[in-house]
This record gives sequence, structure tokens and C-alpha cells, in this order.
Amino acid sequence: MTIPQHPDLCIDLHCHSTASDGTLSPTDLVIRAREKGVTHLALTDHDTVNGLAEAEGAARAQGLSLITGTELSCLWKSRTIHIVGLDFEVGNAGFQAALERQNENRWARARMITERLDKLKVSDLLERATVVSGGDVPGRPHFARVLVEAGVVKDHAQAFKRHLGNGKPGDVKAYWPELSEVVRWINEAGGIAVLAHPRKYQLTATKLRELTADFRRAGGQGIEVSTSGQSSGDLGFLAELCRRESLLASQGSDFHFPGGSWCELGRIMKMPDGLEPVWHHFRQPLIGSLPA
Ligand code: MN
Ligand code: MN
Ligand code: MN
Repeated sequence: MTIPQHPDLCIDLHCHSTASDGTLSPTDLVIRAREKGVTHLALTDHDTVNGLAEAEGAARAQGLSLITGTELSCLWKSRTIHIVGLDFEVGNAGFQAALERQNENRWARARMITERLDKLKVSDLLERATVVSGGDVPGRPHFARVLVEAGVVKDHAQAFKRHLGNGKPGDVKAYWPELSEVVRWINEAGGIAVLAHPRKYQLTATKLRELTADFRRAGGQGIEVSTSGQSSGDLGFLAELCRRESLLASQGSDFHFPGGSWCELGRIMKMPDGLEPVWHHFRQPLIGSLPA
């Protein structure tokens, strides 16, 4: 369902490039975003800002506004939660150091996955997975591709079912920092912390309200009300949660690769009325605004 928020604006504040687990380079991502009518885009690669410089150049060439972004992993009551940081100062020294630690956590996890899959006898597994990920720290999808190439499994789905999915040996949890710490990093870099895709954590409504309240107490300012793959019921529930906690409303496709008809850049359900959009609070507020 494509319902632009405003006749002239198409805002997508959550997507991924090859700087993390997306398949398009930052340049190709921006070009695609433009083709899909996106006017304002935040590239939010996992625990990195490495794609931003390239995306910035492409955005300028395409006449599209780029908002600084990243998606940080953290823990809340031992569960992995994702926080999108928007409109922060990329050069902030504390923030850069924090991203460096996140990167080390990811490498420690990749090494652990490699050890756990040792019995599959795939030679140079970590090195090959790193090549697949384009030189960055490999995640489970990259390991899956090597397992397919090595003939250990027939396809990606089988790789997850047997070796990498929930509860399998390759399902290694990273040692992420606490939620409050990650929110603090974003705030200290002058950015806005947004609770990403709240319906993806498979929390009960009660637990999700608890998470949202804790997030706000920690200094979190926004929540993704509209993301891909959610029902209109989810949308209503999240809008209510957003109002109840007096949070800013954000929206983003969480696009990773072309071809998923359920997830495309700029294809976001219209947010319900009466919410305060996160982009009204950017340091340079986006031109125009939603009809209230
Ligand atoms: Mn991802
Ligand atoms: Mn996420
Ligand atoms: Mn994401």
C-alpha cells in the first residue's frame, strides 16, 4: 500500500546498504529511493555510519535530502532491541568510539559463529563470509551463503533451518550494551533515538508498553509507528503507544534488498493523524510537514 504522507513529501527514515546487510551500495540505494519517489531518506546501517559519505554524494546528485542515521543493537531485559539514531553529529568523538565498540562486538560474534560451525568442516569459513559481506563483519546471512556455496546445504532457508536459525549452533547472541547506554550515545551526539520496528520483537502488548516506557525514561524520543510488513491493527496500536508515551512518530521501510514486494523504499502506510512527526525536530526541520 503506497500512501504518501503529503503530496510532495515521501519520507523513509530506515533502510540498509552494503555498509551493513543490505544488497545495494549506498549510491544505488539512493538512486532507487529517488526512483521510488522518496524525497527524504535516512540510511540506517547496522552499527555503522560507513555508508553515509557515499550516500551523501549520491543524494546531492539525485536531489534528495539525506538525514544522518544508523541502527544500533542493544539489550533490554536480555532481549536484542534495535534503536535507530537520526540526525546526530557524525563526527562526534564519543559516538565514533561507541560505534567502534559495536563493531568489535560484531566481530567477536562472527568469530563465535565460525567456531560453532567448525564441525561442518568448511575451510576458511570466516574469511569467505567476510568476502561475501564485502569486507565488513559478516552476519548470519553471509555465513548462510558460504554454506550454500560449499554445498553443505541446498539453500539459504536450509542453512538457517539446520545451522543458523533460532536455537541452532550458529545462533550466537552478540554482547550488546544496555538500551539506556545506546540512547545516551545518540543523545550525546545531538541525535534523536527512535525505537525501531516495535512489533518485530514478538513482545506482548504489556511487555511492549513496558519497553516503550523504559525507553522514554532512558531519554528515547521517538518510535517507529509505520514500518513495512505490519497490519493496520499494528499501526493503530503503535500510534496509541506513541501518543500515550508522548513520543515522536517515525516511519521507515527497513528496506534491505530489491524484490521483496512487501518492502520497498518509500512504501510506508500513512501514519494516523494527531502524531508529532520526528522530522519536525530535526536540527534542520524538513521543509513542509504532514497535514495534522
Ligand atoms: Mn538488517
Ligand atoms: Mn532492525
Ligand atoms: Mn533495519
